[in-house]
Amino acid sequence: MLDFSLTDEQKAVRDLARDFAKNEMIPNAEHHDKTGEYPLEILKKAWGIGLMNIHIEPEYGGAGMGDLDEVIMNEELFAGCSGMATAMLANNLALAPVLVGASHELKKKYLAPMAEEFQICAYAVTEPGAGSDVAGIRTTAKRVGDDYIINGSKMWITNAGYANWMFVLTKTDPSAGHKAMTGFIVDAKAPGVIVGKKEKNMGQRCSDTRGVTFEDVKVPASNMVGREGEGFKIAMAAFDHTRPGVAMGAVGVAKAAMEHSIRYANTRNSFGKPISVNQGVSFILAQMARDVEAGRLLCYQAAWMIDQGYRNTYQASIAKMFCADMCMRVCTDAVQVFGGYGFNEEYPVEKLMRDAKIFQIYEGTSQIQRVIVSKFLNDGKGIEGPNV
Ligand SMILES: Cc1cc2nc3c(=O)[nH]c(=O)nc-3n(C[C@H](O)[C@H](O)[C@H](O)COP(=O)(O)OP(=O)(O)OC[C@H]3O[C@@H](n4cnc5c(N)ncnc54)[C@H](O)[C@@H]3O)c2cc1C
Repeated sequence: MLDFSLTDEQKAVRDLARDFAKNEMIPNAEHHDKTGEYPLEILKKAWGIGLMNIHIEPEYGGAGMGDLDEVIMNEELFAGCSGMATAMLANNLALAPVLVGASHELKKKYLAPMAEEFQICAYAVTEPGAGSDVAGIRTTAKRVGDDYIINGSKMWITNAGYANWMFVLTKTDPSAGHKAMTGFIVDAKAPGVIVGKKEKNMGQRCSDTRGVTFEDVKVPASNMVGREGEGFKIAMAAFDHTRPGVAMGAVGVAKAAMEHSIRYANTRNSFGKPISVNQGVSFILAQMARDVEAGRLLCYQAAWMIDQGYRNTYQASIAKMFCADMCMRVCTDAVQVFGGYGFNEEYPVEKLMRDAKIFQIYEGTSQIQRVIVSKFLNDGKGIEGPNV
């Protein structure tokens, strides 16, 4: 039996995020977009009311919420300001491999403090020479006694300038492929961690992305996430948890663009009547509604599956691919509905169109999602889930 209704708890989560977006994010979004200022105080407030790090298990002082809770939350937060929401989301991204693969001791060391005080973390996987091809990373970790020494460079690391710690993917055998990859938690203040300047990006401008260099950074072996050689598997498993949430972020941005477009189309007159009475315009709005509804359901499905213990890699990639591409399309159409005003930074859809683009790039590009889905379709192994 299918049931599309949210529980009272899920409605409470949605309303909390919706109110936060309305009261804290939307009024400040333009300022942070124009200045690129990191929304530190807003994030602290979000942490204070339980909107950050929601997956930390109760054993470590967290709320132990599921991926469906995050998806519900993300629709509202990303509709508020996707730059700020990405800064919040990057914590979940860094936490995911730790939740998936870390020992009890490591969780106690790094997760328990995050439940007690406001902390930021970062997921450091991409390198200047390896993004989509994660197995091509060159950062090395060499065992020396009870420690590992890390050397290498990471690129585009969200939250890097504010992080207390980073999940860093390395190669413990540089000549080997993905089976030699190992993840570590690295303290951001450790000697040899060099954080670069904030990048100036097209959109989501208040989110903090930087390069990070590791020069002979000493990390205790006990900071290894999982076992040596398990890093690739753990980093990919983390995506099964995070991709539904990112995909729903794209739905949130698309929903905001749609709502602005509907309001504008009903108030802007041309030829003596609102532009919305023209089928050429109202069909654009109808397609936006169709796409937002479809995207939301794909995200709910992908998140629900992993919460229920099903493997959701295929569904998460479908959701990420559809929602990212859909968001770009809807935001481009929103600019079209606004006409010349849509192209101007005084109107909200210009920011939304700039913000939308990154969904097709981070956490696996839209092409990489197609690669993943194609593999499921072609390798004969089949797709898991409750109805296959
Ligand atoms: C704002 C921002 C924030 C980010 N945050 C983080 C973060 O917090 N942590 C982190 O680790 N990384 C982060 N990233 C990095 C992001 O995940 C990568 O940029 C992304 O995975 C793509 O890698 P790339 O840029 O090296 O592009 P490439 O891998 O070089 O790809 C270039 C183009 O080729 C296409 N392509 C590559 N391989 C294939 C293929 N096999 N088939 C078809 N097409 C292909 C891609 O789709 C893309 O269009 C961030 C990036 C940005 C811009």
